Amino acid sequence: MSFNSLGLSNALLKAISKKGYTQPSPIQEKAIPEVLQGKDVLASAQTGTGKTAGFTLPLLHILSENKLGNSRRPRALVLTPTRELAAQVYENVKEYSEFLNMKSIVIFGGVNANPQIRALKNGVDILVATPGRLLDLQGQGVLSLKDIEILVLDEADRMLDMGFLRDIKKILALLPSKRQNLLFSATFSKDIKKLANSFLNNPVLVEATPENSTAEKVIQKVYRVDKGKKTELTIKLISEGDWHQVLIFTRTKHGANRLAEKLAKKQITSAAIHGNKSQNARTKALSGFKKGTIRVLVATDIAARGLDIPLLPHVINYELPNIPEDYVHRIGRTGRAGANGEALSLVSIDEVEYVKGIEKLLGQQLSSEIIEGYEPVDKPDPNASKSKKSSSRNSNQRRRTGNSNNNRKRSNNKPGDRKRS
Ligand code: AMP
Repeated sequence: MSFNSLGLSNALLKAISKKGYTQPSPIQEKAIPEVLQGKDVLASAQTGTGKTAGFTLPLLHILSENKLGNSRRPRALVLTPTRELAAQVYENVKEYSEFLNMKSIVIFGGVNANPQIRALKNGVDILVATPGRLLDLQGQGVLSLKDIEILVLDEADRMLDMGFLRDIKKILALLPSKRQNLLFSATFSKDIKKLANSFLNNPVLVEATPENSTAEKVIQKVYRVDKGKKTELTIKLISEGDWHQVLIFTRTKHGANRLAEKLAKKQITSAAIHGNKSQNARTKALSGFKKGTIRVLVATDIAARGLDIPLLPHVINYELPNIPEDYVHRIGRTGRAGANGEALSLVSIDEVEYVKGIEKLLGQQLSSEIIEGYEPVDKPDPNASKSKKSSSRNSNQRRRTGNSNNNRKRSNNKPGDRKRS
C-alpha cells in the first residue's frame, strides 16, 4: 500500500515524501481513510506506531479542502496530556502542513502565556494544547473554541491517569456539538471506554496492535538482580554493549537524578528528565539525546510520555512501574518504525509481583535471566508484601476513580500548567 492510494492531497503527499516515508504504517493505513470520510474514530495505538501522522494528515486534508472564509478561530483542536507531547505533535503538524496555507500553534503551561495569546490573536487553524493552559486562556476570553470542527484526544489513557477527566469534560462542553472526534489511546480501561462512549458518535474502531500488547519487534528480558547492584549492572550493560542511545526509566524523580549523576561519574553522558526540571532543561536534554551528545536519558514515566525518539534501540527499566500499563507505554518507545529494539527490566526481589501483573496484562511470559556476578541474594522483606498490596490497591483505585489526593490537588490547580513527575 502506498500513501498515494489513501486519498490525501498532493501538498500532503509532498510533505510525506519530504519526511522520507515510503509507505503508511498500519495505523495510518486504517485510520486515514476513515477520518477522511468524516467518521469518528476510536484508535488503539501507542507511541511509535505513526499515530500522529495517522490523525494529522487527514485532519489537514479536511481543513484545507473546506477552507471557510476568514475565520481566525481554531478549527481543529488536538489535546495532549503533556507539554512534550504537545510540542512534538505541533512539530509534526508544522512539517506536514508545509505546503498548505494552514496556521498552527501550540499552547501549554509552565511557560509565559503572552506569546501564546499573541499567536491566538493572529489567527489559527490548528491548535495543539494541554488541557490546563487551554482552559486558562479560554477563561481569560482570549480563545474561542466555537469553530472547532475536529477534536483529537491524543494519549487519552494518560490523560485520565493524570487526572484530566474533569478538564476534558469542561473542554467538551465548550465545543460545538456538530464536530468530528478522534480518540487515540495505547490501552483501553473501562474508564477510557466510558469516556469514548460519552462523546464519540458511532466510532470506527482501528487498531495498530492487539489490545494491550507491546510492539512486535521488541525483545523483552528480565534480569533478576539485587537493588544495590542495579547501578553497576546498568553501567556494565551500557559500556560492554557499547550502547549509544539508551532510555532508562526510574520510578521517582529523585532516583532519576541520582542515577544520571552516577552514570556521569563513569563518563557516560546522561541527563534526567522529569517534572521538576524546567521546560527548557527538558527540551535541551531531549535534543541532546536525539543528536547523540547525551548517551543516556533517565526519565520518570510521566515525563517520558510521548517522547518522539525514532529508532530507539535500548530501553532499560531500572525499576518496574507498579501500574502494568505503564510498562506497555515504556516499551512503546523502542523497536519503532520497523526497527528492532530491546527492553530490559532490572528486577529486584520486591518487584517480582510487578512482573506477574505485567505478564498478565500482556498475556505472555517475560524471559528471565541472571547475569554472572549479579546473582540475586536478597531475601523478600516479610513486611513489604503487605505495604505493596495496599499500594498497588491504591494505584488501581486511583486509575478507577481518578480520585487520589494528587488528582484532587491537581483539579484545583489547573493540571496542564503544573509540573509533573
Ligand atoms: P508516532 O507514533 O506518531 O510518535 O511516530 C513514531 C515515529 O515514526 C516518528 O518518528 C515518525 O516520524 C515516524 N513515522 C511516522 N509515520 C511513518 C511512516 N509512514 N514511515 C516511517 N516512519 C514514520
